[in-house]
Amino acid sequence: MSQRELIQQFQEYLNHTRRIVFLTGAGISTESGIPDFRSADGLYSDPANLSLFDISAFLAEPAPFYRFSAKFLEVMEQAQPNPAHLAIARLQETHRVTVITQNIDNLHQRAGSRTVFCVHGNLEFSRCVKCGHRIATRELHPVIRQGEVPYHSCGGVYKPEVTFFGEPLPEEDWLYSQRAIEEADLLCVVGSSLVVYPAASLPGYRPRTCRLVIVNREPTPLNPEADLIIHGDAGKIFSPIT
Ligand code: NAD
Repeated sequence: MSQRELIQQFQEYLNHTRRIVFLTGAGISTESGIPDFRSADGLYSDPANLSLFDISAFLAEPAPFYRFSAKFLEVMEQAQPNPAHLAIARLQETHRVTVITQNIDNLHQRAGSRTVFCVHGNLEFSRCVKCGHRIATRELHPVIRQGEVPYHSCGGVYKPEVTFFGEPLPEEDWLYSQRAIEEADLLCVVGSSLVVYPAASLPGYRPRTCRLVIVNREPTPLNPEADLIIHGDAGKIFSPIT
């Protein structure tokens, strides 16, 4: 089937579905200008970035993470929701839509999606690792922009409320995500390599009656189980979806 026919098939599935869950990863935001991890030009193509989101490395020495953040801040600030985020938000006018995202960029919420579970947390707030003081991350931007490490007055370093490798996932978002998938008629995975666990195990909670659709540039380990696979750019694929 051509890509156009596959998109028509996807639309057909959506037309006959009530409860849809979208499980999204970094790939849905690359067309908004935010690099993913594992594409050829992703963040992990530079070996220096491999331990950036590792909790032990961060706690031992937070400076490399914040040096990276100083550059990344601008990319994040300029990013706007793309046609894939917008189409997913539009679908909630006619369907019961749950978005489960591994992303920390807030683009689903900015596109207007109302039910969004962030299984890897979100950049909006940061917390002092010593006393737990919580602060809007944007208040730390002046310090971060200068490439410096933001510290609370108690002496503890601030860490964004995103899940680093080696940390547990936010429990509530995880449980709600699991439940949404257990009740889904259609699960659509968009822009995820599906190799980061435990998030990659979420599709395993879908009931047998739930259709699985995968929208990704590259094959994923779940392709053999999918009812429909559309390889390509999420923004282009979702543009005509209503
Ligand atoms: P990943 O980097 O492992 O995989 C991204 C996948 O998306 C790849 O398979 C790639 O082929 C595909 N892809 C890239 N651009 C695409 C496009 N335009 N359309 C369709 N597919 C596209 O990402 P992951 O599976 O989400 O796991 C990595 C972790 O990195 C996640 O925990 C995520 O939170 C984090 N992360 C988040 C952001 C963000 O918030 N935007 C950015 C980088 C990394």
